[in-house]
Amino acid sequence: METAIDPLVRYSMACPALPTCGLAVTESERAMPGILDRIRALLDRVGLEQEHFVTRMTGCPNGCARPYLAELGFVGQSPSSYQIWLGADPHQTRLAQPYLDNLHIDNLEAALEPLFVYFKQEKQERVEPESFGDFCDRVGFDALRRFAAAYQPTPAKVRGKYRVGVRDEVYDRLKKHATEKGVHMSEISSKAIEAYLNSIE
Ligand code: SF4
Repeated sequence: METAIDPLVRYSMACPALPTCGLAVTESERAMPGILDRIRALLDRVGLEQEHFVTRMTGCPNGCARPYLAELGFVGQSPSSYQIWLGADPHQTRLAQPYLDNLHIDNLEAALEPLFVYFKQEKQERVEPESFGDFCDRVGFDALRRFAAAYQPTPAKVRGKYRVGVRDEVYDRLKKHATEKGVHMSEISSKAIEAYLNSIE
Protein backbone atom coordinates (compact mmCIF):
# COMPACT_ATOMS: atom_id res chain seq x y z
CA MET A 1 0.00 0.00 0.00
CA GLU A 2 1.36 3.42 -0.94
CA THR A 3 2.00 5.69 2.05
CA ALA A 4 0.59 9.21 1.88
CA ILE A 5 3.29 11.79 2.54
CA ASP A 6 2.25 15.06 4.13
CA PRO A 7 2.89 17.83 1.53
CA LEU A 8 4.44 19.86 4.36
CA VAL A 9 7.14 17.17 4.43
CA ARG A 10 7.27 16.71 0.65
CA TYR A 11 7.95 20.41 0.02
CA SER A 12 10.57 20.73 2.75
CA MET A 13 14.35 20.67 2.47
CA ALA A 14 17.22 20.77 4.96
CA CYS A 15 20.99 20.89 4.65
CA PRO A 16 23.15 18.22 6.37
CA ALA A 17 24.52 20.57 9.09
CA LEU A 18 25.45 18.71 12.32
CA PRO A 19 27.29 16.39 12.60
CA THR A 20 28.52 16.35 8.99
CA CYS A 21 29.23 19.98 8.15
CA GLY A 22 32.03 21.78 9.96
CA LEU A 23 30.36 25.15 9.40
CA ALA A 24 27.07 24.29 11.14
CA VAL A 25 26.13 26.25 14.25
CA THR A 26 22.94 24.29 14.86
CA GLU A 27 20.95 21.25 13.77
CA SER A 28 19.15 21.03 10.45
CA GLU A 29 18.61 17.68 8.71
CA ARG A 30 18.33 15.72 11.96
CA ALA A 31 15.97 18.26 13.54
CA MET A 32 13.74 18.93 10.55
CA PRO A 33 11.38 15.90 10.85
CA GLY A 34 10.54 16.72 14.47
CA ILE A 35 10.06 20.40 13.66
CA LEU A 36 7.74 19.56 10.77
CA ASP A 37 5.72 17.36 13.14
CA ARG A 38 5.39 20.30 15.51
CA ILE A 39 4.38 22.66 12.68
CA ARG A 40 1.78 20.15 11.48
CA ALA A 41 0.40 19.75 15.00
CA LEU A 42 0.16 23.52 15.32
CA LEU A 43 -1.56 23.92 11.94
CA ASP A 44 -4.05 21.22 12.95
CA ARG A 45 -4.66 22.92 16.27
CA VAL A 46 -5.47 26.32 14.77
CA GLY A 47 -7.79 24.78 12.17
CA LEU A 48 -5.48 24.74 9.14
CA GLU A 49 -5.48 20.95 8.73
CA GLN A 50 -5.17 21.03 4.93
CA GLU A 51 -2.50 23.73 4.81
CA HIS A 52 1.05 23.18 3.61
CA PHE A 53 3.87 25.38 2.36
CA VAL A 54 7.55 25.35 1.44
CA THR A 55 9.72 24.98 4.55
CA ARG A 56 13.51 24.92 4.49
CA MET A 57 16.21 24.80 7.14
CA THR A 58 19.97 25.25 7.27
CA GLY A 59 22.51 24.99 10.06
CA CYS A 60 24.23 28.28 9.15
CA PRO A 61 23.68 31.37 6.99
CA ASN A 62 25.45 29.85 3.97
CA GLY A 63 21.99 28.62 3.01
CA CYS A 64 22.83 25.39 1.17
CA ALA A 65 19.16 24.28 1.28
CA ARG A 66 18.05 27.71 -0.01
CA PRO A 67 16.05 28.86 3.03
CA TYR A 68 15.89 32.35 1.52
CA LEU A 69 13.45 31.03 -1.07
CA ALA A 70 11.16 29.32 1.46
CA GLU A 71 7.73 30.44 2.59
CA LEU A 72 9.01 29.55 6.07
CA GLY A 73 12.79 29.45 6.36
CA PHE A 74 14.99 28.53 9.34
CA VAL A 75 18.61 29.71 9.24
CA GLY A 76 20.90 28.53 12.04
CA GLN A 77 22.13 31.54 13.99
CA SER A 78 23.36 30.19 17.34
CA PRO A 79 23.02 26.84 19.18
CA SER A 80 19.38 25.65 18.96
CA SER A 81 18.32 29.05 17.58
CA TYR A 82 17.33 30.18 14.13
CA GLN A 83 16.66 33.30 12.13
CA ILE A 84 13.14 33.00 10.70
CA TRP A 85 12.55 34.02 7.09
CA LEU A 86 9.07 34.54 5.64
CA GLY A 87 7.40 35.69 2.49
CA ALA A 88 8.88 33.84 -0.49
CA ASP A 89 6.29 32.59 -2.92
CA PRO A 90 5.52 28.88 -3.26
CA HIS A 91 7.22 28.69 -6.67
CA GLN A 92 10.45 30.35 -5.53
CA THR A 93 10.16 33.41 -7.76
CA ARG A 94 10.34 35.91 -4.85
CA LEU A 95 12.90 36.02 -2.05
CA ALA A 96 11.90 35.72 1.61
CA GLN A 97 12.85 38.39 4.17
CA PRO A 98 14.17 37.96 7.74
CA TYR A 99 11.31 38.20 10.24
CA LEU A 100 12.81 37.08 13.58
CA ASP A 101 16.31 36.72 14.98
CA ASN A 102 17.59 33.95 17.23
CA LEU A 103 14.33 32.12 17.79
CA HIS A 104 15.11 29.29 20.21
CA ILE A 105 13.53 26.16 18.84
CA ASP A 106 11.68 25.60 22.13
CA ASN A 107 9.70 28.76 21.33
CA LEU A 108 8.64 27.62 17.87
CA GLU A 109 4.91 27.34 18.60
CA ALA A 110 4.76 30.66 20.45
CA ALA A 111 6.28 32.42 17.43
CA LEU A 112 4.31 30.68 14.71
CA GLU A 113 0.87 30.40 16.29
CA PRO A 114 -0.05 34.11 15.88
CA LEU A 115 1.10 34.02 12.24
CA PHE A 116 -1.01 30.97 11.47
CA VAL A 117 -4.05 32.40 13.27
CA TYR A 118 -3.71 35.69 11.34
CA PHE A 119 -3.28 33.71 8.11
CA LYS A 120 -6.44 31.73 8.84
CA GLN A 121 -8.45 34.87 9.58
CA GLU A 122 -7.41 36.45 6.27
CA LYS A 123 -8.00 33.20 4.44
CA GLN A 124 -11.60 33.08 5.61
CA GLU A 125 -12.23 36.54 4.17
CA ARG A 126 -10.69 35.92 0.76
CA VAL A 127 -12.37 34.51 -2.32
CA GLU A 128 -9.13 33.58 -4.06
CA PRO A 129 -6.84 31.07 -2.32
CA GLU A 130 -3.55 32.46 -1.06
CA SER A 131 -0.38 30.67 0.03
CA PHE A 132 1.26 31.33 3.40
CA GLY A 133 4.26 33.00 1.75
CA ASP A 134 2.06 35.26 -0.39
CA PHE A 135 0.01 36.17 2.69
CA CYS A 136 3.15 37.19 4.65
CA ASP A 137 4.39 39.24 1.73
CA ARG A 138 1.00 40.91 1.12
CA VAL A 139 0.19 41.98 4.68
CA GLY A 140 3.81 42.91 5.40
CA PHE A 141 6.05 42.28 8.40
CA ASP A 142 4.86 45.33 10.34
CA ALA A 143 1.33 43.93 10.35
CA LEU A 144 2.59 40.44 11.25
CA ARG A 145 4.59 41.83 14.18
CA ARG A 146 1.68 43.97 15.38
CA PHE A 147 -0.68 41.00 15.28
CA ALA A 148 1.85 38.76 17.06
CA ALA A 149 2.46 41.35 19.78
CA ALA A 150 -1.28 41.73 20.49
CA TYR A 151 -2.07 38.02 20.18
CA GLN A 152 -3.44 36.29 23.27
CA PRO A 153 -3.37 32.49 23.04
CA THR A 154 -6.40 30.80 24.52
CA PRO A 155 -5.78 28.54 27.55
CA ALA A 156 -6.45 25.50 25.36
CA LYS A 157 -3.79 26.61 22.90
CA VAL A 158 -1.29 27.21 25.68
CA ARG A 159 -1.95 23.70 26.96
CA GLY A 160 -1.35 22.31 23.47
CA LYS A 161 2.27 23.51 23.52
CA TYR A 162 3.30 21.05 26.20
CA ARG A 163 5.57 18.29 25.01
CA VAL A 164 5.93 14.79 26.40
CA GLY A 165 9.23 12.91 26.31
CA VAL A 166 9.51 9.24 25.29
CA ARG A 167 12.37 6.77 25.19
CA ASP A 168 14.40 6.66 21.95
CA GLU A 169 13.14 3.21 20.96
CA VAL A 170 9.51 4.24 21.51
CA TYR A 171 10.06 7.37 19.41
CA ASP A 172 11.58 5.29 16.58
CA ARG A 173 8.61 2.87 16.60
CA LEU A 174 6.13 5.74 16.76
CA LYS A 175 7.77 7.51 13.84
CA LYS A 176 7.90 4.33 11.74
CA HIS A 177 4.23 3.62 12.38
CA ALA A 178 3.20 7.23 11.66
CA THR A 179 5.13 7.23 8.37
CA GLU A 180 3.65 3.90 7.29
CA LYS A 181 0.10 4.96 8.13
CA GLY A 182 0.43 8.54 6.88
CA VAL A 183 -0.78 10.06 10.17
CA HIS A 184 0.91 12.49 12.52
CA MET A 185 2.87 11.33 15.54
CA SER A 186 1.03 13.79 17.79
CA GLU A 187 -2.29 12.25 16.79
CA ILE A 188 -1.12 8.71 17.62
CA SER A 189 0.44 9.83 20.92
CA SER A 190 -2.71 11.67 21.99
CA LYS A 191 -4.88 8.62 21.23
CA ALA A 192 -2.49 6.24 23.02
CA ILE A 193 -2.31 8.43 26.13
CA GLU A 194 -6.08 8.91 26.13
CA ALA A 195 -6.64 5.13 25.79
CA TYR A 196 -4.28 4.48 28.70
CA LEU A 197 -5.95 7.08 30.91
CA ASN A 198 -9.40 5.68 30.04
CA SER A 199 -8.23 2.18 30.98
CA ILE A 200 -7.16 3.18 34.49
CA GLU A 201 -10.01 5.53 35.38
S1 SF4 B 1 24.09 25.70 5.11
FE1 SF4 B 1 25.84 25.83 6.46
S2 SF4 B 1 25.56 24.10 7.88
FE2 SF4 B 1 24.28 23.71 6.11
S3 SF4 B 1 25.54 22.43 4.74
FE3 SF4 B 1 25.73 24.59 4.09
S4 SF4 B 1 27.56 25.29 5.12
FE4 SF4 B 1 26.92 23.44 6.20
